[in-house]
Amino acid sequence: MKSVTILGGSSAGVGTGQGCSSYLVTIDDTHIVLDMGPDTLQELRKHVDFRKLDAIIISHLHMDHILDLFALRFTLTYNPIKAERKTPLYLPPGGLAFFAQAAALFTTKNDNVQSYFSDVYELAEYDPTREVIVGTTRITFAPTVHVVPCWAIRMHPADGDDFVYTADAGTDSDLDAFVDGAALVVADSAAAPDASEATKRGVHFDAAAAAELANHAGATHLVLTHQWEENDPDRNAVIAARHFDGEIDTAKPGLEVTW
Ligand SMILES: [Zn+2]
Ligand SMILES: [Zn+2]
Repeated sequence: MKSVTILGGSSAGVGTGQGCSSYLVTIDDTHIVLDMGPDTLQELRKHVDFRKLDAIIISHLHMDHILDLFALRFTLTYNPIKAERKTPLYLPPGGLAFFAQAAALFTTKNDNVQSYFSDVYELAEYDPTREVIVGTTRITFAPTVHVVPCWAIRMHPADGDDFVYTADAGTDSDLDAFVDGAALVVADSAAAPDASEATKRGVHFDAAAAAELANHAGATHLVLTHQWEENDPDRNAVIAARHFDGEIDTAKPGLEVTW
């Protein structure tokens, strides 16, 4: 069984009843969370025991993709039922220094800054040129063009039919080869159709670009995500359908897509 459950599909800020980017990928009995933006931990708790995640993988260090890692740190630390093991947390390059700085900000005199996060997380930086293996699934990365270094993530389940999450990606990103053959694409669609060319090229796809990428991949299913509710997601789905013949969904909390 392979599924992606949307934990949050709002853009850089939370929406009405919807947090920012986070996705729970379930492959058989392996649970992997991609990104953990604000207001997504409470949705995660509806679907899986937060103490038993096999990995959390972070695409980039923007607040809308990481803020609930801090909420989860408190939850793992103070929840009356403790985890039996640490949660593996794969950060992008620079992530360990970032979390060391965050620990220095958050710690009080009773805390140990060195172990503030490592008490609950097995912290590691991934090398985006190499694969990460979680359970039986290989995971690979490709750089996107964005405001800060950011990596799209491809999951290669052992029985085939890959899944790609674009993370945040401007259209100058060269993802065509990376997505080729993927069955399911969850794609940044944050830019409004009338956004500036600079925004589309360097910061975020719009729905048309997301659909073109899914079409290029030969995917059967596209999920439009990272959208502001003010930017009319229903209209964006109509726009996407002009560029992609497969099934199209709009990310919302609890939406489960199997593939
Ligand atoms: Zn973002
Ligand atoms: Zn971003």
